Amino acid sequence: MYTAAVFCLEINVNGQRRVIAGGPAAEVINATVSLYPGLQEGWLEVAGSVLPQDQPVADARWLAAALAAGDVVEVRLVESEQAAAPRVSRTDPTARATDAIPLVCAFCDKSHEEVSGMVSSRKAVICPECIGYLHDVIHSSDEGSD
Ligand SMILES: [Zn+2]
Repeated sequence: MYTAAVFCLEINVNGQRRVIAGGPAAEVINATVSLYPGLQEGWLEVAGSVLPQDQPVADARWLAAALAAGDVVEVRLVESEQAAAPRVSRTDPTARATDAIPLVCAFCDKSHEEVSGMVSSRKAVICPECIGYLHDVIHSSDEGSD
C-alpha cells in the first residue's frame, strides 16, 4: 500500500477486480492478453519495470492469470493509493544493485533462494533445471533429425 495517489492500471476480469498495478516506483506497466489458439490457452499478464530509489531498474510482475473463452478483460487507468506491490526481480547480472531484489533465471524466473548452482554470463543467468531442460530439447531433436 502506498500513501499518495498515483496513476495505476486497475485490471478487472468478468467484473471482478484482479489487481491495481502501480506504485510510486513503477516506471512502466503493461497489460497484455496473449492467445495461443493451437494450445487453446489464453493468458493475462500485468508486468513492467520499477525503478527503486538510487538502484538499477528491476522487472515487476503484478499478475499472471489463465483466461478462458468468454472472459472479459477490463483495463482502466485510475489514480489510486491502493496499488499492489509487484513481485520484483532482475535478470541482468551486470546490474550493480545493493538492494534485496533477487537475480533470477532468465528462462523460469526462479531465484538463488529457490535453486542453487545458477550459471551467469555477462548478459543473463540460467538455473540448472533450465540447463537440463535445454539439454533434453537439444538431444531429442538430434534423435528426430536422423
Ligand atoms: Zn530456470
